[in-house]
Amino acid sequence: MSISTATPDQDLSVDGAPLPSTPIRRLVLLGASGDLANRLLMPALGKLLDVEPQRRDLVLVGAGAEDWDEQTWRDRLEGSLTSGGVSRETVDALLATTSYHRADVTRAEDLAALVAAGEPAPALYFALPPAVTARACEALREVDLPEGTVLVLEKPFGTDAASARALNATLAVLVPEERIFRVDHFLGRSTVLNLLGVRFANRIFEPVWNAEHVASVDIVFDEQLTLEGRAGYYDRAGALVDMIQSHLLQVMALVAMDPIGEVSAFDLREAKAAVLRACRAWGDDPAKASRRARYTTGTIDDRTVPDYVAEPGVDPARGTETLAEVTLEIDSWRWAGVPFRLRSGKAVGALRKEVVVTFKPVPHLPTGLTGECEPDRLRLSMGPDAMALDLNVNGEDDPLGLDHVTLDTDLHPGRLPAYGEVLAGVLDGDPLLAVRGDTAVECWRIVDSVLGAWAADETPMEEYAAGTQGPAGWPL
Ligand code: NDP
Repeated sequence: MSISTATPDQDLSVDGAPLPSTPIRRLVLLGASGDLANRLLMPALGKLLDVEPQRRDLVLVGAGAEDWDEQTWRDRLEGSLTSGGVSRETVDALLATTSYHRADVTRAEDLAALVAAGEPAPALYFALPPAVTARACEALREVDLPEGTVLVLEKPFGTDAASARALNATLAVLVPEERIFRVDHFLGRSTVLNLLGVRFANRIFEPVWNAEHVASVDIVFDEQLTLEGRAGYYDRAGALVDMIQSHLLQVMALVAMDPIGEVSAFDLREAKAAVLRACRAWGDDPAKASRRARYTTGTIDDRTVPDYVAEPGVDPARGTETLAEVTLEIDSWRWAGVPFRLRSGKAVGALRKEVVVTFKPVPHLPTGLTGECEPDRLRLSMGPDAMALDLNVNGEDDPLGLDHVTLDTDLHPGRLPAYGEVLAGVLDGDPLLAVRGDTAVECWRIVDSVLGAWAADETPMEEYAAGTQGPAGWPL
């Protein structure tokens, strides 16, 4: 008797094997005039084609609401590629075949024209506002999609667990799950991918990677950036949804998952999903397991930052937080009792983007060794890419007196920007780095419980001056 490991969101062929991947040679960028397309996607695509010139036969189709002529699009594409440092060869190859189509992507006729029957199966990249993406997916029901079509959706995927589930249901009738790429570009960051090598290619970590030896795990992404003109999006999202709901929970799943048999989309995504299914707010008390705060006026690198609520585009009535922290627990033999603290803040004084695994104290410190025995810590920095191990060693004057050292190394910066790795997966039809539908819903389930406590005002809103590390007394 065979036992199926398929989840409701997993599309398998009859014999249980994942669907074969189909390489993509036609990328349709919906929302080609937007910020994401211009600032991140096109330069990342160019870098990918620089590193892998065999992909230069890709046809890039720009589509959007703007009434651009071909030349305006070509100028825009060229500007975006060259400002991203892309080589002339790649720029020329993309310009040779690219085209632009004016389209209202919420209209089935416009989408059908873009998909154009008879062409190679496209990847449709929804670089659109989330509400427009949802309407475009509805409209796609009326479009005959070629076999092998891939759909690429940006974050946020839904606004809560119920809407994410509904969006999954819409997508499920369009293409198989393995052809749906829910993008979390953190999964394309080289330091995040490095977690796989560190954890599973070294004998020394996996035996101690559990509740018996680990005291706590911190996943922190604090940045000096403020709103950077994106108040329209950020003020509706906040730090919890913008960073923790998507990126940091994905990183946590990679840190906490069980070892995988092979680095395949099936094994990796199932291992991550198992972690997220077992995860909930610490003590099942989201109000006490979370903190939220908002920055007030302050100084960052000689730059005066106004109160968050005075920033253009911010509506104080929304009560949006700019710093969030959540302590989670994972109900499993491996992690029972180990707090996972996820935190992200804007306008903080010092950048801190790292995963910190803090180990428990040794069970017995031999008498005769003197001085402080600090906990061992493994720190994986997510920018700049680096790794460090804090250890106790002998002291300078007294070999039996303890001192502390850090073994550290820079990590290779990665061959591509994170979006380049994401696009490589899309073009290969390999969803390894894509978020599976059930996982997207689980991430919302975890965060919805905290949002519910905050909406009921069970967790106070704290304040911190821009340029500081957050409100006094925060544990990290
Ligand atoms: P923008 O508002 O800058 O761009 C959205 C694009 O969609 C514009 O080109 C807009 O055209 C187009 N558009 C809107 N409605 C339609 C329509 N009915 N038909 C055709 N085109 C339409 O958004 P972003 O680029 O910033 O974001 C896009 C997505 O990427 C969002 O889901 C966002 O959350 C996500 N994202 C963005 C990041 C970023 O740094 N920008 C980072 C990570 C994710 P027009 O301007 O003419 O209205």
